[in-house]
Amino acid sequence: MSLRETVIAKFQECFGEVPVHVVRAPGRVNLLGEHVDYNDGFVLPIAIDRATWLAFSTSDTDQTRLTAVDLSEDVSFTPEMLPAKTDAKGRPLPTWALYPAGVMWALMEAGLATPALRGVYSSNVPQGSGLSSSASVEMAFVLAWQTLGGWRLPPMDRALLGQKAENEYVGVNCGIMDQFASACGEQDRLLHLDCRSLEWQALPLPKEVAIVIADTRMRRTLTSGEYNKRRADCEEAVRLLSTDLPGITSLRDVDLETYNRLSSHLPERVEKRARHVVEEIERTQRAIPLLEEGDMVEFGKLLNQCHASLRDLYEVSIPELDTMAAIAQSLPGCYGARLTGAGFGGCTVNLVAREQTDSFSQALAAGYEDETGFPPEIYVCSASKGAELI
Ligand code: ADP
Ligand code: MG
Repeated sequence: MSLRETVIAKFQECFGEVPVHVVRAPGRVNLLGEHVDYNDGFVLPIAIDRATWLAFSTSDTDQTRLTAVDLSEDVSFTPEMLPAKTDAKGRPLPTWALYPAGVMWALMEAGLATPALRGVYSSNVPQGSGLSSSASVEMAFVLAWQTLGGWRLPPMDRALLGQKAENEYVGVNCGIMDQFASACGEQDRLLHLDCRSLEWQALPLPKEVAIVIADTRMRRTLTSGEYNKRRADCEEAVRLLSTDLPGITSLRDVDLETYNRLSSHLPERVEKRARHVVEEIERTQRAIPLLEEGDMVEFGKLLNQCHASLRDLYEVSIPELDTMAAIAQSLPGCYGARLTGAGFGGCTVNLVAREQTDSFSQALAAGYEDETGFPPEIYVCSASKGAELI
């Protein structure tokens, strides 16, 4: 059964009628530009062909009633209870329910109508692997309330509202990339986002390459602390560099040449973190003409360099991610491989010659299992459309 059929069938089971609407909102994988979104840099994600599907109808009470099929859990909440983060009976909302409730809260804060709804959702974006299952849930609910609320916003504005929900309601300090990619994805295209101006364009992704995602199945734990430390180091670098470069507000304002001239003034750890960011922003800029020319060999090398930088300078890798990337980089047909997402677990992203996808995937899975003792999860993905009403 497809996810669409699953959520429709489950809706009928829960509410005794067919749902009026169905939306899908994809997860994403980032090809280049890691840990630069919160430094005003550039990112190059695609929306993937794995998504959250949400079947919904209006509700005739003021209660929004939701079923998360994958968790076998239900929740009901009302607008009045949202600020206290409690359900309709006054109990604290479970974590998973903070995402849809946070979306309703963010939309209400923006003055947008959010009629109570009955909804059932399910997703094949793995949770906590760095493929942004959370943003896909948020974008599905923003679109659901847009559908019922009688208002209409451009995808980037919907993304910003999802980010507000995650930052301020769920309490996760993410940048804009995840919601952006889920909202603005385009079929067979890679997205190029300037995280400072929020200008973006879609670039062709040559048909002869496949995007292969390899999940180490190591789940991130206790990483928000490490993530916040990285952000603090970047802010510290900006503060120290601004003695020589008055007026800079982020590492985006420092080009590599200037950085090389001034970096010896920085303490060692801060220097490494900032170097990753400055070089990674430079890599994303070098990538654009390569993508326009379809030069996957050179583009792939940038992915390999990015992995080394995340491992050695930004120090967000783990041995399993290093093993996965190293095996991939040694295999025929692989243009480039690197850890993707925040790090400390989750997935690598691999750029592979399409006709070698099967042999690559098999060899990668076997090699990884040999080294670690357990098999990875491999997803061959294509770039898909962003969140849509079906
Ligand atoms: P990711 O990298 O996948 O976005 P996060 O930790 O940011 O990881 O978000 C994962 C959380 O999002 C889950 O713990 C859950 O609360 C929520 N979520 C994701 N997918 C689903 C789903 N299919 N059903 C219910 N909640 C989900
Ligand atoms: Mg997330």
